Amino acid sequence: MGAAPSAHGTRTVRGGRRWPHWPQPAPGAEAALLDVLHSGRWSIASPSDGTPTQEERFAEDFAAYLGVRHCVPTASGTAALMTALEACGVGAGDEVIVPALSWAASASTVAGVNAVPVFADVDPDTLCLDPAAAEAAITPATRAIVVVHLYSAVADLDGLRAVADRHGLALIEDSAQAHGASYRGRRVGTFGDVGTFSTHHTKVLSSGEGGAAVTDDPVLARRIEHLRADGRTRSPRRPAAGLPELVETGELMGSNRCLSEFQSALLIAQLKVLDEQNARRRDNAELLDGLLGKLGCRPQATSGQTTARTYFGYAVGLPDSLRDQPSGPVAEALTARLGLHVRPVYRPLYESPLYAPGTRRRFDFAPGHLKRLDPGRYDLPAADRAARTFLTFHHAALLGDASDMRDIAAAFRHVLDLRASPARC
Ligand SMILES: *Cc1c(COP(=O)(O)O)cnc(C)c1O
Repeated sequence: MGAAPSAHGTRTVRGGRRWPHWPQPAPGAEAALLDVLHSGRWSIASPSDGTPTQEERFAEDFAAYLGVRHCVPTASGTAALMTALEACGVGAGDEVIVPALSWAASASTVAGVNAVPVFADVDPDTLCLDPAAAEAAITPATRAIVVVHLYSAVADLDGLRAVADRHGLALIEDSAQAHGASYRGRRVGTFGDVGTFSTHHTKVLSSGEGGAAVTDDPVLARRIEHLRADGRTRSPRRPAAGLPELVETGELMGSNRCLSEFQSALLIAQLKVLDEQNARRRDNAELLDGLLGKLGCRPQATSGQTTARTYFGYAVGLPDSLRDQPSGPVAEALTARLGLHVRPVYRPLYESPLYAPGTRRRFDFAPGHLKRLDPGRYDLPAADRAARTFLTFHHAALLGDASDMRDIAAAFRHVLDLRASPARC
C-alpha cells in the first residue's frame, strides 16, 4: 500500500520530492513581456514604430537557429500545418499520407483543408512513419506526405524524401515534437518542402500557444504569410512610424493565424535556453535508456542518420515477457508510484476518439467525401502494437537529475516484477 496517485507528488515513493515544472521562464522573459506590454504594439497588425516587430525578430532568430531561409510564425502548430498544406497546393479531395501514430492534429489539419488523411504504418522501433508503408499508400489522388518526428525519434528522412521525390509529392515535416533535433548534422524541419513547429505549452520551446512554418522556398513562404494574416504580408520596406506593418496584397485569401507580440517576445528568450535544456534531457534519457534496458525494456529508437535527439516525451517498450498484458495498468501503477503521469503512447489515429470528422458539419461538402474520411478501414500492425506495448512520459521529468532517473527505473523494476509474478496483488 502507501503509493497513491497525487498531482503534487507528495504521497509517492519520492517522499514529497517534486518533478521539474514545465514550462520554465527563461532569463529575460519577464522583462521582454513587460516591454511589449508598454510598447503599445501587441500584434503584428499594430502600426509600426519604425523598428522590427518581435515576430520579425523571432522569425530571424529561429530561422538562423535551424539554418533555413524563411520562418513564418503562426498562432499554433495546427495553424502552421494547415498553412503548410495549403501552400503546398493540398486542397479539396486530395489525399495526404499521415503516420498512423501521432497527435490528433496530424489528421484533423488534413481534414481541415478539405483533404483526406490516409494513414500509413510506422516503423516498429522508431514509431515514426515508415517510408515503404508511405510509398505503398500512394494513389493518383496523393498530393503530400506529412512526417512526424514522434516523442524523441527522428524519422527516416532520407527514405521519405526519396519517396516524395520519386512521386512528385510535397514533404511536410511536422517537427512539433523535435525542436533542435538533427539529422546528418542538419536541424530537422529543414528537410521537408515546409517544416512546421508548435510552441504549445507542452513543447520543448514554448509560448503557451504558438507555432511556426519554415522553408527555403520564397514562393511557399510568401503563400504561408498570406494564409496566416488575412491575405496580407509584411511590408517589403520598413514602414515609417505610425504606418501599417502589413501590406494588403489580396494575392491569396488567408485567415488570421498570427502569433502575438507577447508570444514572439517570449520565444526569443526561450530559444536561448533550448540547447542547454535539450542537452540535459538527452543526458538523462541516455542514463534511463541504460537502466531500463537492463530490465528488458526497449527504449524508443531513432533512425540511423540522427545526429542529435530531443525529447518531447520519453517512450519505452515494455519487456516481451509482458507482451500479452495491456500497458494501461502498468502505466497507472507507475503513475501512482512516481507521482508522474506515465501513459501508453498515442492510440493509432484511426482509433483516436479525437479524430472524428463526422462530428463537423463543414466536411460534408461533397457526396462520398465523409466516407473517404472514415477511419474504420485501417488496421496497421506496428502502430497497433506500439499503442499496446509502449509507455511514455513528458520531457519535464528529464530536466531533473540522475537520482530522478534512478527513481523512475526503480519504479519500473517494482511494477514489472509485480506484473511478471503470477500471484500479484
Ligand atoms: C502539438 C502537435 C501539433 C499541434 O500543435 P498545436 O500548437 O497544439 O496546434 C501537431 N503535430 C504534432 C506532432 C504535435 O505534437
